[in-house]
Amino acid sequence: MNYVFPLWTPPALSIHGSTDLFAVRRIFCVGRNYVEHQKEMGGDGREQPFFFLKSEFALVTNTAVVHYPAKTTNYHYETEMVVAIGTGGRRIAASDATKHIFGYGVGLDMTRRDLQQIGKDKGRPWDFGKNFDESAPCGTLTPASKIGHPVKGAITLQVNGKLRQQADLSEMIWSVPEQIEYLSQYYTLEPGDIILSGTPAGVGPVQAGDELVAHIDGLNDLHVKIAPAL
Ligand code: MN
Repeated sequence: MNYVFPLWTPPALSIHGSTDLFAVRRIFCVGRNYVEHQKEMGGDGREQPFFFLKSEFALVTNTAVVHYPAKTTNYHYETEMVVAIGTGGRRIAASDATKHIFGYGVGLDMTRRDLQQIGKDKGRPWDFGKNFDESAPCGTLTPASKIGHPVKGAITLQVNGKLRQQADLSEMIWSVPEQIEYLSQYYTLEPGDIILSGTPAGVGPVQAGDELVAHIDGLNDLHVKIAPAL
C-alpha cells in the first residue's frame, strides 16, 4: 500500500523520567469546570460542565513557541491539568476511572475568545474559537505510577512574571474520575486520548512577546512564549 504523500508522525508528549513518548489521539476539553470561571464567563456558578474537542494537531509540546493566531484580536490563555488516558474503555465508573489514567501534565487551552463569542451568540460550533493551529500547548507528562492521582494542589499561571491565575485542583466541579465517567458514556475512550480538565478563573488576553509559565503542584511546569503571527 502506498500513500500519495508521506505519513506524518503522530503528535506526542514527552514523559518525565523516560525517553518514551505518549502519542496523542484525541483532545477532550471540559468547559466551565470551576465555579469562579463560570462566573467570569457570565454564568451563575451552578451550571453543568460540558465537553468540546480539539484536534490532536493543535498540540504543541513542552518549552514551546506558540504563534499569535490568525483572525483574532482577543487571544486568551486557560491553564488546565492534562489527564492522559493509558487504557481505553466505555461506560467507565468513576470508582474505576483512575485505572485508565496513564499520567498528568500541565496544558493551556488557548482560545480565540472573540471567535468563540460569535459561536455562542449565533448558536454555532466553537471550533474556530477553540480548535485551531497551536491551540493546545501541553507539557511533559508525569506517570501516575510516580505521583498517584492529584486531587488537590495549586494550579497557577504567570504572564511575564505576574500571577494571572491561581486556584486549587480541589475546586473542580467535576473531579477527574467524574469527567471520565461522563465522557466514556458518550465516547469509547482510547489510549492516547487526553482530557484538558478545565480552567480556573483569571483568564485573559496575551500578545506576541508574552511569556507564560503554567504550573500545577507536583507536575512539570509548562513554558510558552507567544511569537508574532505567521
Ligand atoms: Mn478550557
